[in-house]
Order: sequence, then C-alpha cells, then structure tokens
Amino acid sequence: MRFDPVKIRLAGASELLIEWNDSKISRIPLEVLRKKCPCATCIAEKTKQSAKYIPLFLRDQVTVKEIKPVGSYALNVVWQDGHSTGIYEYNTLRSMNPE
Ligand SMILES: [Zn+2]
Repeated sequence: MRFDPVKIRLAGASELLIEWNDSKISRIPLEVLRKKCPCATCIAEKTKQSAKYIPLFLRDQVTVKEIKPVGSYALNVVWQDGHSTGIYEYNTLRSMNPE
C-alpha cells in the first residue's frame, strides 16, 4: 500500500504530525526527524561517527523553519540552522512512526 499524507502540521515546537490516507497518525519528534536526515552530508557524518556517539542538537537544528512538498512522494524540511538538503520520502516518514 502506498502511504500518502492527508495532513501535515507542526504540533507545538517539538513534533511533526502527519495524518495518513489510512487515517493513522504519525507523531515524529523533530529531534528524531533531524537525526534521520537522509541527505548525503548527514549520512557521511553518521558513517564517520562511532556507534557510541550520542548526537547533541542545538535548538536551531531541531527547529523547523519550513516544510515543502517535493513532487508527490516526499517532503523537504528546512531547519532553522539553514540545513535544507534533507528530502524525506513519505515511506521513510511513515516508518519513523514510533507507534
Ligand atoms: Zn542532512
């Protein structure tokens, strides 16, 4: 099944809330979203770090400035610190659902 968001919004300053076409709701903590940034820079960064590395984020890095849809399959998240290369596919977002 293909998951498409029906509604996307920020819930307060700490969560992204996505309502899906199967009426399930994902609440993704922004810290998790940032940690899982799929862009090449962040993946390279993660590969360099050891498994014991604990990421520490500044507030600007976990504050969403803008969310833009990319075609009909993904979201581009622009963070307050200027990081804007992360394209999150809907399937990826759906799999981040902690519930
Ligand atoms: Zn990134």
